[in-house]
Amino acid sequence: MTERRILVTGGAGFLGSHLCEELLARGNEVLCADNFFTGSKHNIAHLLSHPYFELLRHDVCFPLYVEVDEIYNLACPASPVHYQWDAVQTVKTSVHGAINMLGLAKRLRIKILQTSTSEIYGNPEVHPQTEDYWGHVNPIGPRACYDEGKRCAETLFFSYHRQHGIPIKVVRIFNTYGPRMHPDDGRVVSNFILQALRGEPITIYGDGKQTRSFCYVDDLVEALIRMMNTPEEFTGPVNLGNPHESTILELAEHVIRLTGTPSDIIHKPLPQDDPARRRPDITLAKEKLGWEPGIPLEEGLKHTIDYYKGMLEK
Ligand code: NAD
Ligand code: UDP
Repeated sequence: MTERRILVTGGAGFLGSHLCEELLARGNEVLCADNFFTGSKHNIAHLLSHPYFELLRHDVCFPLYVEVDEIYNLACPASPVHYQWDAVQTVKTSVHGAINMLGLAKRLRIKILQTSTSEIYGNPEVHPQTEDYWGHVNPIGPRACYDEGKRCAETLFFSYHRQHGIPIKVVRIFNTYGPRMHPDDGRVVSNFILQALRGEPITIYGDGKQTRSFCYVDDLVEALIRMMNTPEEFTGPVNLGNPHESTILELAEHVIRLTGTPSDIIHKPLPQDDPARRRPDITLAKEKLGWEPGIPLEEGLKHTIDYYKGMLEK
């Protein structure tokens, strides 16, 4: 007998594939639903022969009728390059996807977890960001399709909760990295590592003084599962991420040192609405989930570098 039947939307993506793996390892049955927009079969190829893993090609913009005990809703492109590529589809995925998955949770009266994002804080005027900060988002800028889509999804989650009593869990994820990030998704960690391994220039956008706080994927997956298993009255939103803040220039220097690359740093224009600072306040996660990240940036970067080295050697 398996523990629970769990639906993971976006399960063939970076975070989703690690989550599916961990849920299976903990004795659950996993139904992975993905339209392979940014995810790939490659990420979950090693799970396909598992007797309790099932893969469904499905777009969450359409309703889904399945019987499960819990839902983790991850479906949505996450990197600025990918989510801006088809901005309308990004909004639809966030909003229609949330409505469809909440509808499923409502019919089955089951728990549903939403992977929201630090992007809902926009370019924050409060630092570090706490969950009670309402954010500073440009509603019509190039990042709005993602930021506002995710904000509306949060609104939908809390509205279904208040109106229909659906047990919800909302997490706001800050920059997370690790093996299986899409090599072309333009996110800073994958860009820098691939540029370093190929001996190409490391592209810093702007002066590199902007900050981010990078969380390794294994830490994040542990937090997602802990959040799902909190008592029903705890809905979040809760920040999940690593509070250790680095400038983008420091990140580049780490990658150069760990790869031993001869690559130089070059500067390119800063994209519009690029947040200047971002660091989670994780007091609430510590209190409610008994969680904090344990994997330092250097160690996580080494694992990620090894993954991309393996990929380039194939
Ligand atoms: P990803 O792009 O690797 O994964 C997203 C997955 O969703 C992909 O497999 C993609 O094919 C799938 N997908 C996209 N649109 C879909 C649709 N309409 N129907 C079904 N599947 C669809 O990104 P990720 O980093 O793994 O992010 C997963 C979730 O976590 C996203 O919701 C993202 O917003 C959130 N998040 C991630 C981070 C991060 O740093 N990685 C930070 C904040 C929030
Ligand atoms: N960035 C960079 N060089 C790159 C890719 C990204 O300097 O090749 C910067 C980007 O401008 C931002 C930060 O790195 O300030 C993080 O970018 P990413 O796209 O990873 O995520 P974001 O947090 O902006 O969503």
